[in-house]
Amino acid sequence: MSIVQPGILYIVATPIGNLDDITLRAKAILSEVDAIAAEDTRHSRPLLNHLGINTPLFALHEHNEEQKSAYVVERLQAGESIALISDAGTPLISDPGYRLVKAAHRAGLVVCPIPGASALVTALSVCGLATDRFSFEGFLSAKSGARKEQLHQLIDEPRTLIFYESSHRIVASLTDMAEIFGAEREATLARELTKRFETIKQATLLELQEFVEGDANQQKVEFVILISGKTVEQTDSLDGETRRIIELLGDELPVKQASKLAAEITGFKKRELYQYLLERKRE
Ligand code: SAM
Repeated sequence: MSIVQPGILYIVATPIGNLDDITLRAKAILSEVDAIAAEDTRHSRPLLNHLGINTPLFALHEHNEEQKSAYVVERLQAGESIALISDAGTPLISDPGYRLVKAAHRAGLVVCPIPGASALVTALSVCGLATDRFSFEGFLSAKSGARKEQLHQLIDEPRTLIFYESSHRIVASLTDMAEIFGAEREATLARELTKRFETIKQATLLELQEFVEGDANQQKVEFVILISGKTVEQTDSLDGETRRIIELLGDELPVKQASKLAAEITGFKKRELYQYLLERKRE
């Protein structure tokens, strides 16, 4: 019996490097659907050949997604089943598919996830930084000024930060990160995950920047950069007396009220005190 149902859009994760990282369910779905929408059909054909799958393919990428979404919805409404794949990993994660999934929901169709690899979760699982809370930031801007501005906005973020980066900008991005978050901030570089030259290195941002800049091989291909969120110790602008006050108030009052009162007493910004208390409660 077929595991594919008529009229369903399947969002199927494919490997991020090692071709064996495909699930049995993904293989079955890709074999049985009526058609596969692929980000780049030339890129996906070798994977499908490797899996012995010859389901018809058509292209759905960022430049034709609007128009192709309407086409896919029509086919689904006519009772066909269609799978969406991207070049690597999970579709929609820094990849096309958002407009299609939205259109399918709007049309009242069923959208079914077929989970598998994604570089961000793969990197997170081995990064050695806090994983209880994280913020996926995707790709930073290619323009230096805009990139620095994006990083500045994340300076006080307490969650682990995750970025995607390509070979063109890896040195520039690490340099900006070390400058803005501080040379000593802990980070992990995950390069070529699941592939032959996989590199996973935890160090300070400055050490990572020097490591990549000093080795041309390390500047090649695909990266995930993970950066420790700002910790309580890094909130060094709060002096001892201010910490004593906010901690005393924080032990007696809700965080919001304690930071408001402490801000009035000490003159420090409420937001900074609030952040300090939140961090302290988490530890
Ligand atoms: N949809 C994919 C996913 O689920 O991870 C991401 C697609 S995005 C266009 C491509 C970026 O993902 C690369 O530039 C890199 O930052 C990251 N990436 C993908 N595969 C990777 C790998 N094997 N090792 C490290 N980073 C990878």
